[in-house]
Amino acid sequence: AIPLVVAISTAISAQKGLLIRNRTAFENSRKISALIFDKTGTLTKGDFGVTRYKSLAEKYSDDEILRLAGALEQSSEHPIAVGITKKIKDLKADIPKAENFNAITGKGVEARIEGLDVKVVSPGYLKDKSLKISKGVYGSVAETVVFVIINEQLAGYIALADEIRPESKEAIRHFKENNIKVMMATGDNKAVAKAVSDELGLDGFYAEVLPHQKVEIVKEMQDKGEFVAMTGDGVNDAPALAQANVGIAVGSGTDIAAETADIILVNSNPQDILNLILFGKATYNKMI
Ligand code: ADP
Ligand code: MG
Repeated sequence: AIPLVVAISTAISAQKGLLIRNRTAFENSRKISALIFDKTGTLTKGDFGVTRYKSLAEKYSDDEILRLAGALEQSSEHPIAVGITKKIKDLKADIPKAENFNAITGKGVEARIEGLDVKVVSPGYLKDKSLKISKGVYGSVAETVVFVIINEQLAGYIALADEIRPESKEAIRHFKENNIKVMMATGDNKAVAKAVSDELGLDGFYAEVLPHQKVEIVKEMQDKGEFVAMTGDGVNDAPALAQANVGIAVGSGTDIAAETADIILVNSNPQDILNLILFGKATYNKMI
């Protein structure tokens, strides 16, 4: 039988933007000593606008790079894809159809477009393939940059900007007041990660993280004796959510992340995690 206090707390949680899929994890949430956030869509709004785009190959104009990337991103639901898809409307060009679309988990997307192999990928993917980027790709401000690869050659890049969620700052302050370490793990580049981390006063960050590394980050913190909660939204986050003591999927994310998570953050609001921890504590105190 479900203890009455837990049943009531669960109902209250639903009103507070929390969906509890695993009651044990909910009760354990009072023990959370470290939180690892993913960045996009949780600490930030996940609402990207294209700020710059450029060809790095003589064969293609800047607009051609955007057009091909846009054709590819029409098949993706990633917040970066949504930002690029919005931007291609400015080109007023015919957008070709992408064939054999494939998501490269946690790294980007690829397809065949007009007989070309087109990929749009993360900085981590380039590092993996030892593809060097020229100076000036990263501007003076912290921007998210994705790279366009055509027939295995680096052909251009697209820079985008996102915004920090207004609720994030206060949430982080509360966590720190409650002696909870707050970290961020993101696939995005170091400059963006540092800007977000500095702005929010995080205890640290991991940038250019590849999917398998998220699990390692959780394990490492657990080995140091931390009771770890992790948030995630993507397919690539599922293994880390499973490894964490409390796995939290954000509501705007994919079904696979949600199916692996213990808790779903319906409004993707980091403040609701504080409610989770306080509820977990209150529920526990009523049970003993
Ligand atoms: P985050 O850690 O910011 O939540 P994800 O794990 O969702 O990011 O993705 C990791 C990285 O992979 C992104 O920062 C981006 O560089 C790249 N990426 C993933 N999907 C796409 C896409 N559809 N288009 C372009 N880049 C993508
Ligand atoms: Mg993500």
